[in-house]
Amino acid sequence: MILIIKNDKKDEVGKLINWIKGRGLDVHMSEGENTTIVGLIGDTSKLDIDLISSLDIVEAVKRIQEPYKKANRKFHPADTVIDAGGVKIGGNNFILIAGPCSVESEEQIIEIAEAVKKSGAHLLRGGAFKPRTSPYAFQGMGAEGLELLKKAKKATGLGIVTEIMNINYLSLFQDVDIIQIGARNMQNFDLLKELGQSDKPVLLKRGLANTIEEWLMSAEYIMSKGNEKVILCERGIRTFEHFTRNTLDLSAIPIVKELTHLPVIVDPSHASGLSRLVPPMSLAAAAAGSDGLIIEVHNDPTKALCDGAQSIKPDIFDAIVKKVSVILPLVGKAFSK
Ligand code: PEP
Ligand code: MN
Repeated sequence: MILIIKNDKKDEVGKLINWIKGRGLDVHMSEGENTTIVGLIGDTSKLDIDLISSLDIVEAVKRIQEPYKKANRKFHPADTVIDAGGVKIGGNNFILIAGPCSVESEEQIIEIAEAVKKSGAHLLRGGAFKPRTSPYAFQGMGAEGLELLKKAKKATGLGIVTEIMNINYLSLFQDVDIIQIGARNMQNFDLLKELGQSDKPVLLKRGLANTIEEWLMSAEYIMSKGNEKVILCERGIRTFEHFTRNTLDLSAIPIVKELTHLPVIVDPSHASGLSRLVPPMSLAAAAAGSDGLIIEVHNDPTKALCDGAQSIKPDIFDAIVKKVSVILPLVGKAFSK
């Protein structure tokens, strides 16, 4: 349930909040320029809506049907803008995250970081802990990979985005700017709850076979524990189609933007699995209103230890950035500064 407070009565909202808390409920405040909204969290079924509507301070009362509250746009009508190491994500800002699937060596990560930075990337991606389907496949460099990411950050100034698989390693992620939760962990609720207690921005990828509502409920797990810095990432879902690795659900972007105030970006690399599809799908994602892209870029995709077939070279990334810059004004966005 949300209460819209009369503009000239917002100074009296404190008393109302105490009254609500006295009934065992929690509140979430959203103060916009013209509206103040009090979101009620908990079991509101026993509240007398007529009584609340009749209070002088209350302009309107709305019931929220959706099971996600904090992620719901009704709770928070304005777009959320998240600061990740100085980079603004959400609102009118469009961001570019680029880098290899996995960190492989110091030379590799620094060469790629320098190249993508030159083209305008805002943040560097690179996996150190990799969730591989086969236990025999390269599992990532682990803690050493994180150290190399930090070196690349120092060398280029690009903030870093990398995946966490086990909360026991959280202390290693102190210099990471955005912690990624991979598709396979989207419903690892213990991990979500733990990250909800951190103050790091979280990139929450959509699960391989999850609905939009399940994805938003996972965001809610993080937000309900106090961390509201959640960035959603559409990375393709499983369908009957096997030509592509996954099927990019572009319609999820405008839907998610309607339902939530959180930024949503697109990963065309995992969505398609084919490097030649990355440029057209990147442009389509920008045109559909996404808040950014996360793209796998490798200096030598044929030698990549992971996801080479979907990795593009730096010159292709550069061409994508130039074309995206033409699309952004059409959707009211600009590259984040
Ligand atoms: C990745 O980003 O390299 C990755 C494993 O992504 P996803 O979780 O979307 O498969
Ligand atoms: Mn990958």
